[in-house]
Amino acid sequence: MPRAVIHTFYQRLYETFGPQHWWPGETPFEVIIGAILTQNTNWRNVERALTNLKNHKALTPRALRRMPAGDLAALIRPAGYFNVKARRVKNFIDYLYHNYNGDLTCMATVPTRELRAEILTVNGIGPETADSILLYAFDRPVFVIDAYTKRVLYRHGLIDRDADYPAMQDLFVRHLDEDRQLFNEYHALIVRIGKDFCKPVPRCEQCPLNGISYSLRDRCERCFRVLQNAGQRGKRSQGGSVCGGCQVPGASSR
Ligand code: SF4
Repeated sequence: MPRAVIHTFYQRLYETFGPQHWWPGETPFEVIIGAILTQNTNWRNVERALTNLKNHKALTPRALRRMPAGDLAALIRPAGYFNVKARRVKNFIDYLYHNYNGDLTCMATVPTRELRAEILTVNGIGPETADSILLYAFDRPVFVIDAYTKRVLYRHGLIDRDADYPAMQDLFVRHLDEDRQLFNEYHALIVRIGKDFCKPVPRCEQCPLNGISYSLRDRCERCFRVLQNAGQRGKRSQGGSVCGGCQVPGASSR
């Protein structure tokens, strides 16, 4: 069943939104820096930071290596958490020079599994950023998981609330062909649905994924626990039902 749902999600999303043309970036290096800067902020802010770097001719490994961390932080200020992110960019540049003399084409020769393990050793780069770099900068067939993915999977009953990154990634990898373009498009489409419909308060009524098996209609619309039987179902409201626990005044598990 999960296999059918995973495939149907993609078909429905692609039919609705079409290709997303990810990742926005002129070079693999720009994609990498964008992936680091986009942590905990929206893409518009990242674009402003990247534009600052370009305007100062700083969007190259060599320029970023020479630039003091304080100057870098000032340029990427629009991306937020700029001191932390400046350190993370610097950490990546150190790794790139230490291992590949600053040459991304050398880095690109390393097999995917090994490369992923290496990137994860860079302080401040976690699985989502590492996988974004592998997929969008190095064209590797690696599925990226983010908060939107988790929300959609959980709300459709495909994972538990405490599912970890590898478990969610495995759900896609197990049921899809190992296809870099498919992984590229699928992740971009999930981000689209997360931004437009599967928000903290979901817009299921208008959402193209509504009605697909494991629908939110079988879950409490407040806490998203499965409604086991008719006796647990509370009053109908937009997009679903409310379970008995959430009907208690003041009760909320989210
Ligand atoms: S908005 Fe509703 S139908 Fe759409 S993905 Fe989220 S839970 Fe599913």
